[in-house]
Amino acid sequence: MSAGDISRKLYAKACEILPAGVNSPVRAFGSVGGEPLFYASARGATFTDVDGETYVDYVGSWGPLILGHAHSDVVQAVSSAAAKGLSYGAPCAEEIALAAMVVETVPHLEMVRFVSSGTEAVMSAIRLARGVTGRDAVVKFSGCYHGHADHLLVSAGSGLATFGTPSSAGVPEAFASHTLVVELDDAEAFRAVMAERGDEIAAVIIEGIPANAGLLVQSSEFMRLIRDECTRTGALMILDEVITGFRIGPGGAAEHYGISPDLATYGKVIGGGMPVGAYGGKREYMEQLAPLGPVYQAGTLSGNPVAMAAGAATLRRLLQGGGRAYTQLDDLGAAFEKGLRDVFKDHGKKWSVARVGSILWLVLQDGEPPHKYEDIDPAAADIYAKLHAALLEQGVYCAPSAYEVMFVSLAHDPSTIADTVKAFDRALSEIG
Ligand SMILES: *Cc1c(COP(=O)(O)O)cnc(C)c1O
Repeated sequence: MSAGDISRKLYAKACEILPAGVNSPVRAFGSVGGEPLFYASARGATFTDVDGETYVDYVGSWGPLILGHAHSDVVQAVSSAAAKGLSYGAPCAEEIALAAMVVETVPHLEMVRFVSSGTEAVMSAIRLARGVTGRDAVVKFSGCYHGHADHLLVSAGSGLATFGTPSSAGVPEAFASHTLVVELDDAEAFRAVMAERGDEIAAVIIEGIPANAGLLVQSSEFMRLIRDECTRTGALMILDEVITGFRIGPGGAAEHYGISPDLATYGKVIGGGMPVGAYGGKREYMEQLAPLGPVYQAGTLSGNPVAMAAGAATLRRLLQGGGRAYTQLDDLGAAFEKGLRDVFKDHGKKWSVARVGSILWLVLQDGEPPHKYEDIDPAAADIYAKLHAALLEQGVYCAPSAYEVMFVSLAHDPSTIADTVKAFDRALSEIG
C-alpha cells in the first residue's frame, strides 16, 4: 500500500520540524515519489507501518539486520546489557567480546577501534592513513560511498547518486582537491594516477563490493591491482567493508577477493542494528592512534556496552556452526536472483540482477550488470520508481531509490522469497 492516513499525518508534522521530515535523505522517497511509510514495529522479514499494513522488508535498515528484525538473541543481549547501564564512557568487557570476535575472524585485523557509525570509521581510517604516511591525497572511485565526511563527498553514490550531484555544498574546494577520483574497473586510469602521483597518496579507498550506486562487482584482477599499487607506492589500501563486512561471509570482501588491505572499515552488520562502526588493521598502524600515537580520534559513546552487545550477539549467531548462515544466505539470494531473472524474461525484459550473496540489485537496463557508475542507465530510475510503487501495493518494501540494493536476511525463508517473486510478477504486469 502507499502511505496511509496515519503515515501521511506524521509525515506532514515531521516536515515542519525535520528537514524533509527525515534524518537521512534517501528515506524521504524523493527519487521514487510518494511519501515515506512510518514504521510501527518490525519482526523477522517484515515490518508493520503505523496504518497497520505489513510489508516484506528488503531494506533491513540499509544492511545491518542480517538476522532479520528484532532477532531474539539480539533483543535479549541488548535488554540485559541495558539493564546494567546504558553507557559508561569507560572500558567494559563487552568491547573485548566484540573486538575478539572480529580480530579472530578477519586475518588482516590485528587491532580494531570502535566508533559509532560507518562515516566515523572511514573518516578516522583516512586520518590514520594520513598520519601514518605523512601524505594528504586520497584516491577514491566514482560511485563509491564512504559516508559523509567532507573529503569523501566527491563523486559518491547512495543518496548523492540520486541527486545527480557529484558532491555536496559546504565541502571546501581545498578538501575536495585532496581527493582524486577514478572510475571503477578502469585499470589504466588507476595505474596512471598512481604512476603520476603515487608518492603523494596516503590511501586508496574502495568499497568491498561497491553497493551504494547499484551493485558494481569488481574483478579480482582490479582489486589485486589496487593492492599491488598501494604496496608499490607506500599508500595504504583501505577496504570499506561497512556493507560487506560480515554480510557476504566471515572475511567480507577481502576474503571474497583474496586480498589483504592495510586498513578496513566496518559498520552496519557489526552493530546488529545499533550505532556501531569500527576500523582496524595492522598493529603497527593502529598503534599510531592516541593515546599511544599522534593520530587523535575519540568518542563519548564509542564502545557503548549496549551497542557492543547487539553486535556480539549478531556475529555470534552468524559465525556459529562454521558459517552455515552464509551458505543459507547465499542460497536464499540465489533463489531470489533466479526467480527475478525468470520473471524479467517472462515479461520480455532484457533486464538482469547483480548479486553477491545476500545483496541483490535490480538492473533495469538491457544487458549484463554494469561494473562502473558511468555505465548505469539513468532511465532505469524511472522504471524503478514505477516498480517500487507497484511493489508497495503488493506488500513488498524495497529501498526508495533505484541506486540502492536489496538485502536478504536469515529471516527471509524460501517461501517468503517465492512469494516476493510472485509479487514482482504481478507488479510488472501492472506497470507493463
Ligand atoms: C553506509 C555506508 C557508510 C556510512 O555508514 P553510516 O553508518 O551511514 O555513517 C560508509 N561506507 C559504506 C560502504 C556504506 O555503505
